[in-house]
Amino acid sequence: MKVTVISGGVGGARFTRGLLALLAERLPDGGGGTTATVTVVANTGDDLWLHGVRVCPDLDTVMYTLGGAVHEDQGWGRRAESSRVSTDLASYDLGWEWFTLGDLDLATHLARTQLLREGRPLSQVTAHLCRRWEPGVTLVPMTDQEVETHVVVDDGPTGERLLHFEEWWVRHRAALPARRFVQVGLEDAVPAPGVLEALRDADVVILPPSNPVVSIGTVLAIPGVREAVVATRAPVVGVSPVIGGAAVRGMADACLRAIGVETSAEAVARHLGLRARGGILDAWLVDTVDATAATALARDGWSTRAVPTLMTDVPTTARIAAAALELVGL
Ligand code: GDP
Ligand code: CA
Repeated sequence: MKVTVISGGVGGARFTRGLLALLAERLPDGGGGTTATVTVVANTGDDLWLHGVRVCPDLDTVMYTLGGAVHEDQGWGRRAESSRVSTDLASYDLGWEWFTLGDLDLATHLARTQLLREGRPLSQVTAHLCRRWEPGVTLVPMTDQEVETHVVVDDGPTGERLLHFEEWWVRHRAALPARRFVQVGLEDAVPAPGVLEALRDADVVILPPSNPVVSIGTVLAIPGVREAVVATRAPVVGVSPVIGGAAVRGMADACLRAIGVETSAEAVARHLGLRARGGILDAWLVDTVDATAATALARDGWSTRAVPTLMTDVPTTARIAAAALELVGL
């Protein structure tokens, strides 16, 4: 069985960890893993150059989470981490003092930057880093080109200002009203090697509960990706990142507001759309508290169901993954 997941950071990583646990149970390989092939196509729109190194937040969150190295409470970064280098750098008034790079995490960025400087594309660099962490999936960036999400915000009564997504998200906690998002570099971007193939050859494509705007939306914006999702023979199933009208963790509601979509499980589903009607989804899993959304969507031809979708631990998340697969008959 071939499974392809389109992922952001924390939401996508946690879901995929549960999915792998489920697959290891159903299709065991005898060594604790699974015979299923899982490809994770990750958002790289949050990437940035900082202190001379290339930082790829979502790729690293997936890699650390599946590799057993993630800081569990935080959901990103390395466990048992320190920040001596970042603290020391701040003494020079350089960089972004509000964007901490952990000391161990910095080693990943240094390694990545060295390999990029040697001329290797990000997809190959990611594969190299994954040799150490053995995430149990093929982790692929959405593109090898630098495509960075920027946020257009108000600047005085007349103007507007562009800031990097991470500055808006981390420094301003998404509190500056966003007018729109811009993917700088998108025109020259093509899907990374393996992305279109993973979508075309999949037995199922899953949209985990990732940010529908700046994670899933950014991956879909890479020329050819949305078309590949629309065209795949595989069923496409999504899990709602919105529970009871709220983004569970983080400020995804601010992103939805910027693109004029209500923060509700039903509105996000309709925004992504039913494949039979020009969208990208065949099925949508919502939380128990959104049972009315499931009813409304079902009336309009969606395959949908309401189950508990809070990813509290791995077994619970495995059950969410099972419910998602069940929606498309797997
Ligand atoms: P990021 O790149 O680290 O922001 O992570 P993602 O884009 O992968 O996912 C973030 C989104 O996941 C959040 O905005 C939430 O809406 C959603 N999310 C986080 N935890 C949960 C959970 O336990 N259950 C569900 N259904 N959604 C969640
Ligand atoms: Ca992210």
